[in-house]
Amino acid sequence: MKTIDDLQVAGQRVFVRADLNVPLADGTITDDGRIRAAVPTIEKLAGAGARVIVASHLGRPKGAPDPQFSLAPVAARLGELLGRSVAFAADTVGDSARDTVAGLADGEVALLENLRFNAGETSKDDAERGAFADRLAGLADLYVGDGFGAVHRKHASVYDLPARLPHAAGGLIATEVGVLKQLTENVSRPYAVVLGGAKVSDKLGVIDHLLEKADRILIGGGMAYTFLKAQGLEVGDSLLQADQVPAVAEYLRRAEERGVEFVLPVDVIAAKDFPDLKTKAPADPVVLSADAIPAGLQGLDIGPATRELYAAKLADAATVFWNGPMGVFEHPDFAEGTRAVAQALLDSPAFTVVGGGDSAAAVRILGFDEDAFGHISTGGGASLEYLEGKTLPGLAALED
Ligand code: ADP
Ligand code: MG
Repeated sequence: MKTIDDLQVAGQRVFVRADLNVPLADGTITDDGRIRAAVPTIEKLAGAGARVIVASHLGRPKGAPDPQFSLAPVAARLGELLGRSVAFAADTVGDSARDTVAGLADGEVALLENLRFNAGETSKDDAERGAFADRLAGLADLYVGDGFGAVHRKHASVYDLPARLPHAAGGLIATEVGVLKQLTENVSRPYAVVLGGAKVSDKLGVIDHLLEKADRILIGGGMAYTFLKAQGLEVGDSLLQADQVPAVAEYLRRAEERGVEFVLPVDVIAAKDFPDLKTKAPADPVVLSADAIPAGLQGLDIGPATRELYAAKLADAATVFWNGPMGVFEHPDFAEGTRAVAQALLDSPAFTVVGGGDSAAAVRILGFDEDAFGHISTGGGASLEYLEGKTLPGLAALED
């Protein structure tokens, strides 16, 4: 894979496919981690005299302009972080984009409007995607792929555009791929994996693959209840994907056969109702043994004994990959499990990688210094698919 050091960028129009898909609440950015992660590559290109055209998607608009998904607030924040003005184009391949790019001097930066305001970006039809990629290619001389969070998508700006322009990987993608290689090739052992989050179905592929790689798999979050059920326990009103119980039972069996240690919660923090994440009103949490969750209560975090158990299981690991919060960390009554795992990663001398949008946000929202972690991936789905051993379209497109 070429990097930006292999490109002659001075005076050239360089299209940077970044991932600026940040969470917004009423037009305000609630976590700017992805914008900050995009800055070094943009800065480097501008510093080398490129005319930098940054593009990204945000949210899931339906292939047409939709003001609630505008990148305008992102342009403002990017400008603050770069310490220079960022020209904002009100469309992606229309008059505004062409005029904005034509107005760039060497070393200046522009941001295009949300790529997904155009149906060609995400189309399953190769010709429709290709037509949009042709129009994007008309704006630029060179392509830099740096949107790691989108490389698992076969989208026009990720997959089709680099085939149309001389291309290279940006610094963020180069770093992410380097880290993921350390989790797949010559891993230092013991290799522990912590998986949580809401749905077990999102993570089946990665569990399947990690059963061949990891020494120890710790399960938390909403997905833990499907595992507890597969072990014959009742889970009350907890999140349960009943249709996945057979698959999960098969994983537990395979883990035993392969000598992979599977660790499930021994206690949980439960409540009658799902907590109100807006008001954060007290939720009357109770601690229950994992084998005694009655109907009428739902598990919303791992319990104190499980926190200790998981910290101990991480303490002597040499490599740790963590994806998915241990509980509904957005509410203070159910944040301690996620906090404990984050702290265990910080306390451990292991090479630690945090992957997953919500997990990375949790680390920041709970007040941890993210620089203290080995690596926090900007791409949840992308890092999981990489660890599943899949070919990622946006990385394959940068290979040749
Ligand atoms: P990531 O984005 O890091 O991959 P996910 O999107 O899979 O993580 O899951 C994050 C969500 O899982 C959080 O919003 C959290 O509130 C939710 N969650 C965690 N534990 C539970 C639980 N026990 N019951 C319901 N939801 C949960
Ligand atoms: Mg998520």
